[in-house]
Amino acid sequence: GSTIGILGGGQLGRMIAIAAAQLGYRTHIYAPEDGGPAADVSPCWTQGAYEDAAALAAFADAVDVVTYEFENIDPSAVDVLADHGLVRPGAQALRVAQDRLAEKRFASGLGGLTAPFAPVESLSDLESAIARIGGRAILKTNRMGYDGKGQARLGRPGDAATAWDAIGRQSAILEGFVTFEEEFSVILVRGVDGQVRFWDSAANVHVDGILATSTVPAGPLIEGQVEQARALARKVADALDYVGVLTLEFFASAAGPVFNEMAPRVHNSGHWTIEGALTSQFENHVRAICGLPLGDTGLAAGGAQMRNLIGADAHDWQAILSDPANHLHLYGKHEARPGRKMGHVTRLIL
Ligand code: ATP
Ligand code: MG
Ligand code: MG
Repeated sequence: GSTIGILGGGQLGRMIAIAAAQLGYRTHIYAPEDGGPAADVSPCWTQGAYEDAAALAAFADAVDVVTYEFENIDPSAVDVLADHGLVRPGAQALRVAQDRLAEKRFASGLGGLTAPFAPVESLSDLESAIARIGGRAILKTNRMGYDGKGQARLGRPGDAATAWDAIGRQSAILEGFVTFEEEFSVILVRGVDGQVRFWDSAANVHVDGILATSTVPAGPLIEGQVEQARALARKVADALDYVGVLTLEFFASAAGPVFNEMAPRVHNSGHWTIEGALTSQFENHVRAICGLPLGDTGLAAGGAQMRNLIGADAHDWQAILSDPANHLHLYGKHEARPGRKMGHVTRLIL
């Protein structure tokens, strides 16, 4: 059999590894930690830094294809991997999607709507960006942010210095605050032959910057904007000659779908596809990166709602499982820290 190498050993790696095992593949995780959610289901684990070129090269040599659940890998590390094996999705996708400024420019260059944005490298950049974009804005670090981390909201021009300090005075982007009704994601899978399939778009609700629920069907407002959003997502995937699952997040606004960010990987807002779609995002990701035909992305039920189990609400398993429509997923994390994703539950609507 063949071995799939996965960079990152969290819950996304775990769910990719489960799908891979079902299709008869072995998985080999490379992660900086000594174990994690993916360790329970992956027979092979290398603990190593993402900057360790020699260890990454040995890892790439030991597997048949390298994929990732974590995109914040140094571009030079990606080059090392690409020199030693097949990386899917490829290096270009990683470079664009790990940098907010690059991804906004990329999407906007392909005709996508975005919030007004400006690069910020200093406090004086921030002040001129505010003068141009307006004081109601969000300052985000270009790299490494997730779950709303590395962001500062601005209300008035006087907030600039505080916001610049709050994000640690690093390379950033200032985005105008988008007035939106709802949020949704487009998740697609693109095969080695360029075939693209989309899952239904979920309506995503965030609480404190963290995804709380994803629901399909998403409702009429989002459904009216999905076609335009998909057209952009397809252009992005084609332009990157993308192989695997790709996610784009959008705001449904009065002006149409506003692109927020992309993830070059399976996505939390697609966890509902495990039970709610005929083929899950994880299975189709494995199929795509292994050059296999793609599975049907259609709905397997009337609809589905995925709810994240965050921090301490991860404790009411009994109540969750007492409803037979619920499907519980726990990630095997031992410590329930605040804001930590411990698992999720998908409720099918039949
Ligand atoms: P994720 O966990 O999705 O990767 P993230 O840390 O990358 O999150 P974003 O997706 O950029 O952060 O922002 C988190 C949430 O903050 C968005 O889903 C949205 O609710 C809100 N938000 C972000 N940018 C804007 C904006 N320009 N205007 C209005 N709201 C925004
Ligand atoms: Mg993000
Ligand atoms: Mg986001």
